[in-house]
Amino acid sequence: MRKPVIAGNWKMHKTVSNALGFVKELKEIQLPSDVETVLCAPFLALPAMVEETRETGIGIGAQNAHYEEQGAFTGEISMPMLQEVGVSYVIIGHSERRTYYNETDESVNKKTKAAHAHGFTPIVCVGEVLEEREKGQTGEVVTSQVKAAFQGLSSQEMKKTIIAYEPVWAIGTGKASTAQDAEEVCSLIRKTVAGLFDQSVADEVRIQYGGSVKPENIASFMEQPDIDGALVGGASLKPDSFAALVKAA
Ligand code: PGA
Repeated sequence: MRKPVIAGNWKMHKTVSNALGFVKELKEIQLPSDVETVLCAPFLALPAMVEETRETGIGIGAQNAHYEEQGAFTGEISMPMLQEVGVSYVIIGHSERRTYYNETDESVNKKTKAAHAHGFTPIVCVGEVLEEREKGQTGEVVTSQVKAAFQGLSSQEMKKTIIAYEPVWAIGTGKASTAQDAEEVCSLIRKTVAGLFDQSVADEVRIQYGGSVKPENIASFMEQPDIDGALVGGASLKPDSFAALVKAA
């Protein structure tokens, strides 16, 4: 049985005090212990959030990190820096990073390997843009992103990786994919992982759907056999809405 995993992706939202206020409110709400719960926050808020969530079971994640350990990379943050403050997840290859910051399949692969080398659970994002969907290229695009992202990983590393299928046209638009369409792609992703590794790895790897997930539609995604959770932007910004997502998972 794969453990469901709900991750909030706050993007560039919340100051340190806003983030702490959120966590304090969330801690007042009883969350199910059989759902892995993760908050991916801006870098500055991470140390305080790690402290505030100790003993709660809530995991803290970054939204990006460099693949090099250190060096002349002005403005970047490395995995060892995140490791030292107790961060345990890192989102890699989000479509906004691919679109605005030239993240490529190659850098996604390097970052995924670096994340494992430092003991993180990477949440690796893949997904097609609208034009690709309309041209019927979704399967091809996602398969090639998956192959590139996980090239050279060990089976152990692959099993620990979380894959987030996020159709780009569904992110922040309020227009979620249908659960059936999302399942079709997530099932293809699982088959691709089986082809790259083996069936036992594919059976263990967790695949999230992301793109306009809300408390009202999450159940339809969670019912699907190949969808094990959600990566959530907008609906993760308020404690009650985020808690509703975790409870529905
Ligand atoms: P959204 O964002 O839930 O606001 O659509 C999802 C994401 O970008 O991970």
